[in-house]
Amino acid sequence: MPIFLECQRCTACCRWPGQVLLNDAEITRLAAFKCLSEHDFIQQFARLRPDRRGLALKEQSDGACIFLEDENCAVQPVKPQKCREFPNLWNFHGFEKVCHAIPCEVSAAEYQHRIVLIKAKGNDRAAD
Ligand code: SF4
Ligand code: SF4
Repeated sequence: MPIFLECQRCTACCRWPGQVLLNDAEITRLAAFKCLSEHDFIQQFARLRPDRRGLALKEQSDGACIFLEDENCAVQPVKPQKCREFPNLWNFHGFEKVCHAIPCEVSAAEYQHRIVLIKAKGNDRAAD
């Protein structure tokens, strides 16, 4: 039976070092959610990636994501797809040591349904 990792919203993944990459559709959605023009959103919340191949979210002084407010994501309804997909669609060696997602055994159909939902959320919003 497939294992689906159920996020417990501990926000550990919002605090560890790394980049939250942004594509054009995500910038459009996030800017609208913050009631900002895309230009102003980028000025306030985005930075150039070190490889200069696009933008990523800025970090706070302690390395946490700029949108982490206490224990909550300030842009939860429109958070980037990279955030939505962790840890089921991507993760890294040893992530279980810091991520509190609970492994749940589900049927193959249920697993597929949940994965489609994760992907569809981003696609739906990208089409908004
Ligand atoms: S956008 Fe939200 S979910 Fe994604 S890293 Fe930032 S605070 Fe966490
Ligand atoms: S570290 Fe794991 S359990 Fe915690 S918010 Fe991120 S995905 Fe969810």
